Parts: sequence; structure tokens; C-alpha cells
Amino acid sequence: MEPEMLFWLSFYGFFLVLSVVVGAKKGRVIAGALLGYVLGPVGLILILCSSDKRMVPCPHCGEKTHRHSYQCQRCHEKVYGCLHSN
Ligand SMILES: [Zn+2]
Repeated sequence: MEPEMLFWLSFYGFFLVLSVVVGAKKGRVIAGALLGYVLGPVGLILILCSSDKRMVPCPHCGEKTHRHSYQCQRCHEKVYGCLHSN
């Protein structure tokens, strides 16, 4: 195998792994893997900028709250059951 080809393979492999890791942290493993695989470094940037699927705005104060949390961490209003509509 050509050394140059090996370099590009490891280059894209590196971004693919990073995109999967970032995607996993945001609950978007598949999206991360696809973006990293198709777009490489650009895909990594896209997944970094994408919104966290697990975090939804609190219906009371608008602060981002984990969708499975019972209460909002900021206003302490009960949010459980309000966050599953989308
Ligand atoms: Zn709140």
C-alpha cells in the first residue's frame, strides 16, 4: 500500500473515531459516524456544532435540561413528562 494512501486512511479514520465519540456524547452515534465517514474533518465540525439531542429546553424557563430529568436544574420546576412531545 502506498504511504500516502495510508496517511489519508488514518487521517479519515481519526476524524471518523472523533466524530463517533462526539456523536455518542450527544446521543447521535449514527449521525456522528456518517458525518465523520462522509465528510471527515468537516463532519466532525458539524457534529460538534449540532444540538444535543438529549438536551431539551425547559418549558418553564427555557434552560436546556436533560430529557430524562425529573426537575429542571435551573428553576426546579417539574419537567418530567413535558419534554417528550418532540
Ligand atoms: Zn426551568
